[in-house]
Amino acid sequence: IKKIGVFTSGGDAPGMNACIRAVVRTAIHDGLEVVGIRQGYQGMLESNFWDMSARDVGNIIHIGGTILKTARCLEFKTPEGTKKAYDNLRSYGIDALVAIGGDGTANGASRLSLTHGIPVMCIPGTIDNDLYGSDFTLGFDTATNTVIEAIDKIRDTAASHNRLFFIEVMGRDSGCIALRAGIAGGSEAVLLPERDTAIDELIEKLSSHANNHKSSSIVIVAEGDKNGGAYHVAERVKEKFDFYDSKVTILGHLQRGGSPSSFDRVLASRLGFAAVRALLNGKDRQMVGLRGNAIVLTPLEEALHFSHFKLEDDLLEMINVLSI
Ligand code: ADP
Repeated sequence: IKKIGVFTSGGDAPGMNACIRAVVRTAIHDGLEVVGIRQGYQGMLESNFWDMSARDVGNIIHIGGTILKTARCLEFKTPEGTKKAYDNLRSYGIDALVAIGGDGTANGASRLSLTHGIPVMCIPGTIDNDLYGSDFTLGFDTATNTVIEAIDKIRDTAASHNRLFFIEVMGRDSGCIALRAGIAGGSEAVLLPERDTAIDELIEKLSSHANNHKSSSIVIVAEGDKNGGAYHVAERVKEKFDFYDSKVTILGHLQRGGSPSSFDRVLASRLGFAAVRALLNGKDRQMVGLRGNAIVLTPLEEALHFSHFKLEDDLLEMINVLSI
């Protein structure tokens, strides 16, 4: 391997820049050339390539988003699109890839490697923390911290007015942000995509809290909760329970941005460094992840085939215990 390509794709996540920096600098340190591919698979189809130096990734470790931009690209999914992307990579002399993104990105990288034989390493970058092969994905810790900051502010006003707040957080299929934010933000209840929570059960819990002289409550609703989102939950609760004035806040895309936490910066650096070293050691089609406190490689076939229930049992139980 002489020249590697690095790109970000799918949803952006804080820590992607720190990871690009680690890939670029490790590669240059180890005697490789590095090409940044702008806008993911779209950039491969358009040969949107950037010969990167160690200086090009200066002063980005603390910045959210991705300097390489990201995109979703349907054309790449077709066999002709995949071939065109590969031909463009080859004609630019790129002979291995580091892909940073979610499961769609990893699927694309796996396809490219299987059909055309180019070695790929995938780094899990998504705030949802919903990938197999790593206990934590890039951006999850930062997003959770952002949510907690918002909950803290809402708590001030909730406590002043005897209010019940429903806060909707990101997570269409994954309740990881909701559960962690629920624990760290001291919320009364958490509604998760992985679990059905009956509205009656929620009302019962809120009533018992009111009977215990709680003057305000915060309920975290993951966007993928089966009840249909925070507005819907709030309306249904209001029909039967009116002890409190209730309000809804949808946090939305602010959860995607911001300066990465120290945890995400260190994770990004470790994963980027390990991805380049793995390519140099002849590895191919692996997800680079963190398990416990060790960096591990998981074959992409396995990482993309399995899903992993990541909600910790003790946290699930503690939501009820610690909110009495
Ligand atoms: P994420 O990586 O965050 O899951 P997407 O699912 O949008 O985001 O995937 C990013 C891009 O990866 C897509 O726009 C597409 O170009 C490519 N991709 C996704 N799934 C596949 C697939 N099954 N085969 C080939 N390419 C894919």
